[in-house]
Formats: sequence, C-alpha cells, structure tokens
Amino acid sequence: MKTTEKNTDVMEKIVSLAKRRGFIYQGSEIYGGLAGTYDFGPLGVALKNNIKTLWWKRFVEDREDMYGVDAAILMNQNVWKASGHVGGFSDPLVECKKCHHRFRSDHIEAGKDGSKKCPDCGGELGPEKQFNMMFKTHVGASEGDEAISYLRPETAQGMFVNYKNVLDSLHPKLPFGLAQIGKAFRNEIAPRDFIFRLRELEQMEIEYFVNPNVDADKEGGWKYVFNHFREQMHDFTEQDLGLPKAKVHELEVADGDRAHYSKRTIDFEFDYPFGRKELYGLAYRTDFDLRQHSTASGTDLSYFDEETKERFIPHCIEPSFGVDRTVLAILSDAYHEEIIKGEVGKDGEAATEETRVYLKFSPKVAPIKVAVFPLLKNKPVLVEKAREIYAMLKKELGAIGIHGIEFDDNGNIGKRYRRQDEIGTPYCVTVDFETIEKVDEKTGPTVTVRDRDFGKQERVAIKDLLKRIKL
Ligand code: ATP
Repeated sequence: MKTTEKNTDVMEKIVSLAKRRGFIYQGSEIYGGLAGTYDFGPLGVALKNNIKTLWWKRFVEDREDMYGVDAAILMNQNVWKASGHVGGFSDPLVECKKCHHRFRSDHIEAGKDGSKKCPDCGGELGPEKQFNMMFKTHVGASEGDEAISYLRPETAQGMFVNYKNVLDSLHPKLPFGLAQIGKAFRNEIAPRDFIFRLRELEQMEIEYFVNPNVDADKEGGWKYVFNHFREQMHDFTEQDLGLPKAKVHELEVADGDRAHYSKRTIDFEFDYPFGRKELYGLAYRTDFDLRQHSTASGTDLSYFDEETKERFIPHCIEPSFGVDRTVLAILSDAYHEEIIKGEVGKDGEAATEETRVYLKFSPKVAPIKVAVFPLLKNKPVLVEKAREIYAMLKKELGAIGIHGIEFDDNGNIGKRYRRQDEIGTPYCVTVDFETIEKVDEKTGPTVTVRDRDFGKQERVAIKDLLKRIKL
C-alpha cells in the first residue's frame, strides 16, 4: 500500500487525538522534543497496561511451562559482544554530501537510473557506512573501556543470561520458556511514523527452549513449537487485542534476509495507515545464543535430560512483540469517523453536519470501560444515584479483575459523550430524572446505557446493568 494523502491525514488525526485526549505526548515536548521518544499519558498508560496484562495472562499465567523474569537494562558489555550486537547490530547509513542529512540507505528508493539521491535536497550521497544502533554509556565514575555498557537493544539477552538461574532455582523440564516485558533502546537512524519506529521502545518477548533431539514435527520439537506460537500470536492479535484477521499478514523471511543465527523467521505485518509494516516477529534462533554465552562466559549452559541421559544445549524459539507497535495498530484500527446530519432548518436551510469521532476499541483493551454520569451536575439526587452506581460497578467489576470505570460530571452531557467516544469507552451509563421519578415496581429504577459504536441509548434496569455490559 502506498502512502496516500488520505492515509497521511488519518495519521495526523490519530496523533492529534492521542495528544488531545491524553494518550501519547511528544517526549520532552516543552523543550522542543527529543526525536524518537514519546511519553504516554494517563489513557495511554491504561491502554498499554491492558495490552501487557493480556499478553502476560496468555503467555505466562495461563501456562505451566513459562517463567517470568525482569532483567536489568544495563548489562555487562560482554553480553553484547557474545550476542553479536557489538560487532553487528547496525544499519547502513549514508550522508548527503550537500545538506549533510543522514539516512538509512535501505530506506531510500532508487531513481529511474538506479542511483540513490538525497531524499531532502536531491544531492549526491556519500559512501555507505555501518552504524551501530546501541546506545553506549559508562558505568561508574571511570570512563575507560572496561566501564562501557549499553542500554539493551532487545530484552532477549536478559533471558539467555538468566536461563541457568531459572534452571537451577526452579528446575523446569524442557520444553519451557522465559518471558519478559521491558524497555529496549535502539539509536534508529531515522525514527518515524509516530510510535512505529522509536529510539526508546518496549518489548514483550519469549525465549522458549526445546530439545533439539526431539523430532522437529513431534510435540516438543522445534517445528511443532514454532507452529504453536505462530497460532498463539494470531490468537493474541485477534482474541485478546481485537485486531481484524484481515489486517495481520505473515511474511516468511527469505534465507538471505534472515539474521545469520535464524533457521526460520516469520514477520507478522500489520496494515498501518502508512503501509504494511512489521508488527511482531517469530524466529527459530537455534542454539546460537546459549552456545555463544556458554563459550564467552565459561559457564556451562547445557541441559541434562534425566530420562534419556543426554546432555545438550537447548534450541530456542523466540516470539517477539513490540508494545508500541501494538498500541499504534490498535489506535489506527480503532479510529472511526461518522458524519451526523442535523435537521433541515425551518426556512429550508441546509442540514448541519457534524463529525463524530470514536475509537472502536475492543472492550478488553479500552482504557475506560464504563463511564457513569449524572445528567446534571447540580442536581444532588442525580449525582448521589450516579455515585452509587459508579461504586457498585467499580466493586463488582473490580472483583473480577475489570478496571477502568469512570465517574464524569464535567460539562454538558453532549460533551461528555463526545469525549468518551474519542477515548473509546464502550459504554456510558446516565442517571436522569426518569431514574428517580419513574420507578417500575417490578424492574426497579432504570438508567440509560449508550453504545459507543451506534451512539444509541437504551433504558436498562439498574439490577440488569452488569448483565447488559459485555466486557
Ligand atoms: P524493523 O525491521 O522494523 O527495524 P526489527 O526486525 O529490527 O524491526 P526485531 O529486532 O525483530 O525488529 O524486534 C522485535 C519487535 O520489536 C519488532 O517486531 C517490533 O514490534 C519491535 N520494535 C523493533 N524496533 C522497534 C522500534 N525502533 N520502535 C518500536 N518498536 C520496535
């Protein structure tokens, strides 16, 4: 898909809504920003937490073979030497000889004559250099080479170096996996597309260890496990995140394009407004990492199988998920506009038109799930009843692990609906005069429940509210 004006337009609207409603702000904004960094506001944090909780539940809590870790971001520099990052974690960089702007050369399209020119000024480009993307720092007061450390460019290595710790302390049997959620840092040459390509990002990763002597296609073999996670990744995007199947595509990475240690890689791509781009990756990393760390550290990272009496280095399947790219996929898929036509004026004036913007989040990821309003802020009977319902929902839903219930009495009701639509709240519950004055003996008091996607309201008995709200 080519970037069209319309799609650029959608991205601008999403960026603006994300800021206006407290999802995502430019990093260090009051100082003019810092390229490749963004800050998450209250709604963004809630959305991210929901994504991470759903992921942790599916891949760690609901399983018996997965172990969580939270490793330090700063690691001994030898980790990155052994993993190959010091030598090879780089992108091809070119500099324009005229304007001196720098670009990732594999992102520049060649012209008709096959040559590449500066995308900014059309100038001639200098020779291609390899640019290492790790952020380098010094640990402690010394500035010598021995004090060098790096902000981790992936969470994966934090798991490989803890593989033996978990094995020794919890004694899991193969196959088993380690899982981690955390920040990673990449000094991208050209951060772009809002939170798609960041310099500070968050990952959710699994290193799943298998016995290489088990037949690859049998239960526990690498192909079997690879396919299992492939399915789980689709289930996560569809069932947990509510992303449409039609927008998620698999790309089998060809032999020459894979990382040297990978025997198979599938990229999961998503149809973003700016094109089809990588959302997640799934790789078969063989025994590369554990073997490298065994050799470099001098610590034996082999595994002894008590049943077969075999000793070997486990092989590894790695499903890797970017949190920020997930947030962007959800936001861009959820963004909807609807034209609402007003009534034709008395004197035949044209009907007014208003655009209703709403985020069609799946209730599972929505930061606010139910908002409760008194119709009017200055009528104590309405406020009191609305507060009572709010407390009831918070208590009942909280008890089953559902959070994100909001009480809102700001501005008029129209404004409140508009805000809740824009932050993707699936249900708005309003206490009005009918709630207080028209109480049916059988059903008891009623409220209105407004559905975000259709903008329609329905009267529901308070006693049936929990049944009516599908979360
Ligand atoms: P790309 O080819 O887009 O640079 P990659 O193949 O280098 O990505 P991996 O190293 O496989 O990415 O990282 C695993 C996941 O981390 C990616 O699938 C993506 O979701 C996320 N990710 C990687 N780089 C970034 C980034 N700069 N900003 C945001 N998320 C990222």
